[in-house]
Amino acid sequence: MKSSFLHERNLVDVIGGGPAGLMAAEVLINAGVQVDLYDAMPSVGRKFLVAGKGGLNLTHSEPLDVFLTRYGKRRVQMEPLLKDFGPEELRAWAAELGIETFIGTSNRVFPVGMKTAPLLRAWITRLRAAGVIFHQRHKWLGWNADASLRFETPTGEVPAQAEALVLALGGGSWPQTGSTGAWVPLLAGRGVAVAPLKPCNCGFEVAWSEYFRRRFAGHPLKAVILSFTDNQGIGFHQQGEFIITESGVEGSLIYACSALLREEIEAKGGAVIHLDLAPGWTHARLVERLSRPRKARSMASHLEKSVRLKGVKAGLVWEFIPKADFAEPERLARAIKDLPIPLIASRPLEEAISSAGGVRFEALDEHLMLRGLPGVFCAGEMLDWEAPTGGYLQTACFASGRAAGLGALKWLGDV
Ligand SMILES: Cc1cc2nc3c(=O)[nH]c(=O)nc-3n(C[C@H](O)[C@H](O)[C@H](O)COP(=O)(O)OP(=O)(O)OC[C@H]3O[C@@H](n4cnc5c(N)ncnc54)[C@H](O)[C@@H]3O)c2cc1C
Repeated sequence: MKSSFLHERNLVDVIGGGPAGLMAAEVLINAGVQVDLYDAMPSVGRKFLVAGKGGLNLTHSEPLDVFLTRYGKRRVQMEPLLKDFGPEELRAWAAELGIETFIGTSNRVFPVGMKTAPLLRAWITRLRAAGVIFHQRHKWLGWNADASLRFETPTGEVPAQAEALVLALGGGSWPQTGSTGAWVPLLAGRGVAVAPLKPCNCGFEVAWSEYFRRRFAGHPLKAVILSFTDNQGIGFHQQGEFIITESGVEGSLIYACSALLREEIEAKGGAVIHLDLAPGWTHARLVERLSRPRKARSMASHLEKSVRLKGVKAGLVWEFIPKADFAEPERLARAIKDLPIPLIASRPLEEAISSAGGVRFEALDEHLMLRGLPGVFCAGEMLDWEAPTGGYLQTACFASGRAAGLGALKWLGDV
């Protein structure tokens, strides 16, 4: 990877202009290194902008030891990166950029104003002023035989050379933002171990009846408890909300257990979640109320009047339990407290919020350098970790971008 040209300053190429690549570029330029940043798209940070549409959830304010548990099996690898640059450091970094943050009701952290655009604009302006050279519409195609980098541009293919390379190419979800996952064969072809990209924080398919689909697609399901236990006994039990879609279910509560559900579906061809549709009610109270005389009321009206079950919640009960059970208060109460919903498949990666899989940590050293390709560093969502939404994704992208930038600096110093 060392350049055949002599540079007055060390030159590092960063490919990928999401939060991970921009962070790596910032660390490098601040250390006096010349940085060229390449991105396939006409502008950088497109997924970062999309993430801010409903409010940019930058990080989370829970204690760091709880925060770290969100990275599950990859906590060991992520912990040193996040201890160096975690939620507090990210908030301080944003403040230094002129973007104050606040803690929302769910302890999630957002920029004041909620949007990504002001933060991204200020950041790019600062990086340009510091000397980072942006090359947009430059799609990385791999390496030439002389080890230079290949880029496809609107005016044809161009080579580029540098003394170190940071790859921050993102995962494979929302490919319209530029994160296509097309890098996987490029690295696999050079012997890098890459776990297949899979949907994470994704929706799941349910075989709704035509009636339910037409009546309830788009309806939010609020204040429900979702329980799920996988085939190894690992459990999930959380209150929250999600949305009924044309094809199934999606939303924050579903995303929170999407890794478990995806793995169960892969192993067994399906997964069954259980919903408590009335968390504030005991089973006994439901039975008592449902046992009261219905008189001339319809069953729908009885459910609403006696236990306040209506709309999409009542619709779900009708969808999944036999009609005969409505005459049995005991069974009806059990269905309301523990309604099984069979999931048949994950929605495709393209629709997911993020990707699981990516460059395996075994292929990287502790500075995020590829063991088999010295001088090449990887960062962000293209690494093999996953986490729920809640700011955990962005924080890890920033942290690993910084770690890769520092790794490249160390390598330049060592060679
Ligand atoms: C709808 C949505 C909502 C989200 N909400 C949140 C949230 O609230 N909180 C949170 O923490 N996270 C959220 N995320 C996830 C978060 O945005 C991503 O995890 C994060 O952007 C990943 O950063 P990254 O730098 O690793 O990669 P990306 O941001 O994906 O950037 C990768 C860059 O690499 C470029 N690239 C790819 N291949 C090539 C190539 N061959 N040549 C040149 N350039 C290339 C792409 O054009 C892109 O600019 C959300 C994501 C989505 C889609």
